Amino acid sequence: MPKKKKRKEFQALKGMRDLLPPDTAWWDKLIKTGEDLARDFGFQKIETPVIEDAELFIRGTGATTDIVSKQMYFIKTAGGTSLALRPEGTPGVVRAYMENGLASLPQPIKLFYFGPMFRHEQPQAGRWRQFYQFGLEVFGDSGAVLDAQIIQFCFNLFKAVGLKKINIHINSLGCPQCRPAYRRVLLDYYRYRKDRVCPDCKRRLKENPLRLLDCKEEKCQPIKSQAPASVDHLCDECRKHFKEVLEFLDELEIPYFLNSALVRGLDYYTKTIFEIFWEEEGLAPGALGGGGRYDNLVKELGGKPTPAVGVALGLDRIVALMKKEEVKVGSEPNFKVFLVQLGLMGKKKSLKLFEKLHQAGILAAESLSRDSIKAQMKIADKLGVKFALILGQQEALDGTVIIRDMQSGVQETVPQEKVVEELKKRFRK
Ligand code: AMP
Repeated sequence: MPKKKKRKEFQALKGMRDLLPPDTAWWDKLIKTGEDLARDFGFQKIETPVIEDAELFIRGTGATTDIVSKQMYFIKTAGGTSLALRPEGTPGVVRAYMENGLASLPQPIKLFYFGPMFRHEQPQAGRWRQFYQFGLEVFGDSGAVLDAQIIQFCFNLFKAVGLKKINIHINSLGCPQCRPAYRRVLLDYYRYRKDRVCPDCKRRLKENPLRLLDCKEEKCQPIKSQAPASVDHLCDECRKHFKEVLEFLDELEIPYFLNSALVRGLDYYTKTIFEIFWEEEGLAPGALGGGGRYDNLVKELGGKPTPAVGVALGLDRIVALMKKEEVKVGSEPNFKVFLVQLGLMGKKKSLKLFEKLHQAGILAAESLSRDSIKAQMKIADKLGVKFALILGQQEALDGTVIIRDMQSGVQETVPQEKVVEELKKRFRK
């Protein structure tokens, strides 16, 4: 007899996972707090598709970045079009801004988004292939005050979800006027030391010299620490802009750390860049979020020159920290009554009664899948509700319900249409 083929057991793909209760309570708290705060700061929500033309990221995020060259999920359609699962949010939002005429509305346009991003990375702590970002983008204003407002938002959000020990690292990468000169200085510095750097840095020297400062290899650190800093090579405008950002942060009493090795892994940044870290090193793998100004991206992608600034926060890592720090999240709903049902007739009527109570704003717990009165009363007791509502065969026929005071055990039968009124009377006592 041929051997029966074992049925396949499905599993989530490597680096991807389900978000399950009770963890989803932390997720909900973080997202709700973020959305409320973003609205308070004058941002409006935008949602863009998770699949875009691959070219959008190749030109936007940058062809030589790790995100695009190593980690992006490409999809080939039957017609041969090259699509990509978005590895980050900004290029899609820029496309939407251009495509939907947002540029012709009064500026600035302040948008926020939340959603999954995809990067084919080696999964490890805090690194997933599907992960979630909450981001802000501001279009149409070059003022340093907006850079500061975005950082202020992040600072407030972390505080609001109970994470106070964050560090903000900040740097300025200059603009197309001053960056080429800095790039030359950096190249000169590294060229003399190229025999002493790692193979990755040798490649960076050719492809993307700014990323040399991003190297985590032990042997490159002494060279990196002495490397020329971009802030020492800014043009007057960029220097003034960066000084203003820092002055706004000082005014807000938001602590920051000037990190001349900060470059960010994306190509489009100009002027201010920043990343947010957890204070206790080792407790959080990598940054919790990062952002900066990208004054040339809209133009690069085919729009009119439009200054812009934004941030993307890594929700997976933030939720992990909220758990670790045992941040309190919304507890169980505050049930006021427990609905006990007996027999088919009782069960039939109980859903309707549940609906009635819900509409009246009386939170009712139930255990519709249980049939034994004892088991149901036990749960009611555990939940600590004041009253149980008992709906059996007889009550269903009579159109009544029994209200049982859980503490005294006193029971009273009332007509179903009066139950809300009767309960309200008892709650007032
Ligand atoms: P990036 O713009 O690439 O710096 O990403 C912004 C934030 O998203 C990072 O600071 C991380 O918190 C988060 N992030 C990036 N990649 C991943 C990943 N593979 N898994 C989980 N979180 C990530």
